[in-house]
Amino acid sequence: MIVIDGKKAAAELRQELKQEVSELKSKYNKVPGLTVILIGDLAPSQIYVRNKEKSATEVGLKSDVIRYPDTVEEKTVLEKIQELNSDETVSGILVQLPLPKHIDKQKVIEAIHPSKDVDGFHPMNVGNLSSGYESSVPCTPLGCYLLIKKIEPNLSGKKAVVVGRSNLNGKPMTQLLLKENCTVTITHSRTKDLKAECLEADIIVAAVGIPELVRGDWVKKDAIVIDVGINKTDKGIVGDVHFDEVSNNAKALTPVPGGVGPMTIACLLKNTIDCFKRSQI
Ligand code: NAP
Repeated sequence: MIVIDGKKAAAELRQELKQEVSELKSKYNKVPGLTVILIGDLAPSQIYVRNKEKSATEVGLKSDVIRYPDTVEEKTVLEKIQELNSDETVSGILVQLPLPKHIDKQKVIEAIHPSKDVDGFHPMNVGNLSSGYESSVPCTPLGCYLLIKKIEPNLSGKKAVVVGRSNLNGKPMTQLLLKENCTVTITHSRTKDLKAECLEADIIVAAVGIPELVRGDWVKKDAIVIDVGINKTDKGIVGDVHFDEVSNNAKALTPVPGGVGPMTIACLLKNTIDCFKRSQI
């Protein structure tokens, strides 16, 4: 069984991106820029943003963080986004979620120009992805997709089961697998027999938020299993997949931590560079 090493894959991707940034700098005499807006002082958001800033700088991007207190008015944030939309040095804009309750998340997502939407949450990018057009793709499913392709470059005709239908993970994951000509089943909390669905799958992507939901006897021999879940439990952080049980059946499996997680930030950098490249055409 292959334990898919997300840390190594993310380091390789960052190395490729660093090289690409250096080539873009030579060609255009400027580098892609990522601006993150951070509202409030939630500890996990602070950590995510610090890691994003560090990784962006490491690959040579111009990186900025704009910080607001959690009392900031929605109008102030929307005005700042408009300013960044017309700033040529900014290739990608990310507003760190979650937002304080008085700020309308959807309004903020839709204020970011689709060409600078590095999270891939703008309805225009969601529509483009589902229509099979070029678009920014949400970072976590993009990371899952790249890991799957490393194990199995030709996904055509494979049966995939995506567990979870969130806009963040399950839905974009489904679109990426469809684009690769997989036959995809998307499952959720009302699915009648999840075990039976999973047993059909050559590829399972679990993005649910329930510790070790996917068991060993849910997985057919030689399936590829990608675990998006991050769940805090008494025994530490675990995924949505029972790692020990599933490792007896699967061909390849991502660990938690060290699987999908590290790919997410690397894909944010990739999205920023891709936004920059599209803006130069
Ligand atoms: P979410 O928005 O809460 O969505 C969870 C999905 O799981 C929903 O579609 C829900 O169905 C479905 N679900 C709930 N119970 C189920 C069950 N018993 N059987 C089948 N499906 C069930 O979660 P999310 O934002 O996608 O996140 C999922 C997990 O990924 C979380 O653990 C989160 O922490 C983790 N995550 C990891 C990363 C990373 O970088 N690795 C990034 C983001 C999130 P309904 O739609 O019917 O409610």
